Parts: sequence; C-alpha cells; structure tokens
Amino acid sequence: MHWYWYALILVVLLLAGAGLVVPRLRRRPGAPPAVPPAAPPVDPAAPPVGTPEPVAEPATAPAVETPEPTAGRLVRLRGRLARSQSLLGRGLLAVLSRDRLDEQAWEEIEETLISADVGVAATGEIVARLREQTRVEGTRTGTELRTMLSRELVAALEPGLDRSLRASPHDGYPAVVLVVGVNGSGKTTTCGKIARVLIADGHTVLLGAADTFRAAAAEQLTTWAARVGAEVVRGRAGGDPAAVAFDAVKRGRETGVDSVLIDTAGRLQNKVGLMDELRKVKRVVEKHGPVDETLLVLDATTGQNGLTQARVFTEVCDVTGVVLTKLDGTAKGGIVIAVQRELGLPVKLIGLGEGPDDLAPFVPEAFVDALLG
Ligand code: GDP
Repeated sequence: MHWYWYALILVVLLLAGAGLVVPRLRRRPGAPPAVPPAAPPVDPAAPPVGTPEPVAEPATAPAVETPEPTAGRLVRLRGRLARSQSLLGRGLLAVLSRDRLDEQAWEEIEETLISADVGVAATGEIVARLREQTRVEGTRTGTELRTMLSRELVAALEPGLDRSLRASPHDGYPAVVLVVGVNGSGKTTTCGKIARVLIADGHTVLLGAADTFRAAAAEQLTTWAARVGAEVVRGRAGGDPAAVAFDAVKRGRETGVDSVLIDTAGRLQNKVGLMDELRKVKRVVEKHGPVDETLLVLDATTGQNGLTQARVFTEVCDVTGVVLTKLDGTAKGGIVIAVQRELGLPVKLIGLGEGPDDLAPFVPEAFVDALLG
C-alpha cells in the first residue's frame, strides 16, 4: 500500500475518535444525560420486586407540624370548660327549674353568676331579664329554660362584636400583631399558639422575640416557631426590645410573610418602666407602618385582679382584642362577660389547655352551649 493510503486511514480514525469524545465534553459535569434512560414498564398489580428498603434520612431539622384547623376548635375543646359548666351552667339550670322561683332562688342565681366572675353590673341585668321572662311566660319545661338562659348568656357576650384577627397583609406588607400582657399570663405560649392559628388559616408568619428580659422567652418562642417552620427574630438577652421588634417587622417585610407576631415583655414589678417600654416598642414598630392588632393576654384564673392589670395596658397600647387564657383551669368562665364589658374590648381567642392547638377562636354561641352542657 502506498504511504498516502496509510495517511488517509489515520485521518479517518482520528475523526471517528473525536466524534465520540466531543458530545461528552459538551455536557456539563453532573448534568443529567440529554435523553433520560427509558423506565421499564410498570405493572401496577405486580409487587415492588427489588425495591430498595427505604433509608432513614439523618434528622437535621425537626419535622414541621400542620396545626389543626381553627374552625370548630371550641366545639372540640368544650369538655375543657367542665369546671365552669358545673358551676354556671348546671348550677343555674338547677335553680331555674324549681317549681317556685322565690326571692331566695333569685338570690342563689345572682350569687352563682357573681361567683363565676360575671361581674355585678352584668349579673344585675341578666337576673332582671330572666325574672321578667319567667314571670311573663309562667312555668316552663327544662328545654325551654335552657333556651331562655342560653339566649340571655349569649346576649351578655355581645355576639355582634368583631372578633376577627387583623392579621392579613395589606398594601404589599405584612400585618403586624403585638402581643402584650403580664408575665405568667401565658403570653409567650399564646404567641406560639396564635402563630399556629394563623398558619392553620393559611398565613405565613414571622415571630419577633421582643421579651428580651426573660431569658427563657426567646428560647420558648424559637421552639414554637421551629415546630411550624416559621422564622424568629431575636436579640441578645437583656437587649432593647424595641430594636428586636423593629428588626422583626423589617425582616418580615423583606421576606414577604403575611403576618409578623411580636411577643413583648410583661414585668409588672416596674409598672412605669414597662409601660414606657411598650410605648417605645409600638412607636418604633410604627416607623414601618401602623400596628394592625394589639392583643392583650389575660389569665382567666386571676379574676378581678386581672381586670385591674388589664386596664393599665389598655391605657398605653390601643388594645384591639383580648386573649383569655387558662379557661380550662377555672370555674369562673363568666369572666369573659366581665372582661368585655369592663374593658370594652372583644375577647377574640380563648386558651383551653397547654397543648399547641388548645387555643380557640371565641364563638359566644358555642361557648354558652358548652357551659350549659
Ligand atoms: P408568659 O410569662 O406570660 O409568657 O407565660 P408563659 O407563656 O410562659 O405561660 C405560663 C404558663 O401558663 C405555662 O405553663 C403555660 O403552659 C401555661 N398556659 C398558657 N396558656 C394556658 C391555657 O390556656 N391553659 C392552661 N392550663 N395553661 C396555660
């Protein structure tokens, strides 16, 4: 063979080799092949032959929980009102169903309402209306008495009040919700529970841990947030609460969440200092825009004392609604009536236990129904 035949064969071999290599170089390292390998046909009835055993992922982050829906929570938790049910509900029905409703019976009814923390003024009105109705309409069956009592208690709870949470974003920015109240009222726990309420209703939430004085508060809030996959903004222990609140709203605006929920400090030992601090938190947050909702957390078991404390908060914070906690631990469920009347504020949520979803939107009719059993 002549030398140029050898040269020709060599050129052909080189070109063929380059054709195999070039397509491989064009693919990004790590990128999937241009054409995915064909999947073998699957027989849906066949057992998963050869399927590898599932391998547990290392637990890097806690599992994110899905909070229970909020609708119907009060009905689900009605059993938690058992103590109030036996004092208020059953107590009143027992007296009302006596054959003769004499002065002593009415006094008993009055005492029952007062000892359930309904308050003197509301008690007077409820008793007067019940007396009038029983007088006009004569003797009644048990069912009729229950209906009449239910109607009066629901009316005393002012069912027309707006109890919705103003926690939806507006003008392209998150709603800001401040949570205030004295230490021990269940404020931080309630913040965590409210975050779950909002998430259950489809919102995204960021939490601000502005209670920088109680070391455990920020920790507690971080745990609540982690359970629902929410972000927390916290400062250093003993730092400026207003700065944390400001940063939380700033961060919420940057990340585009629907609501920013801010837990505040509640040491009442130094009342003037606390109130100045709350004013400052509010003022600083309002540099971003108005606060949409200020919720006052009140412990239902503190009765009339709690009301005195509550008034102090309403003087500085433009409170828009009350969260009444620990109603599961008291027989004094009538406090809901007193709180609304004396503070002139709607009770928006009630705490009925220590569980994460033991916070229910307050619905007067469902509440009275639970009380009357
Ligand atoms: P804070 O100091 O106001 O922030 O109070 P915490 O949030 O730390 O709560 C104080 C205690 O009250 C905790 O043990 C909570 O579990 C408890 N708590 C809060 N809300 C309720 C409620 O609705 N029912 C009951 N039984 N306990 C509650």
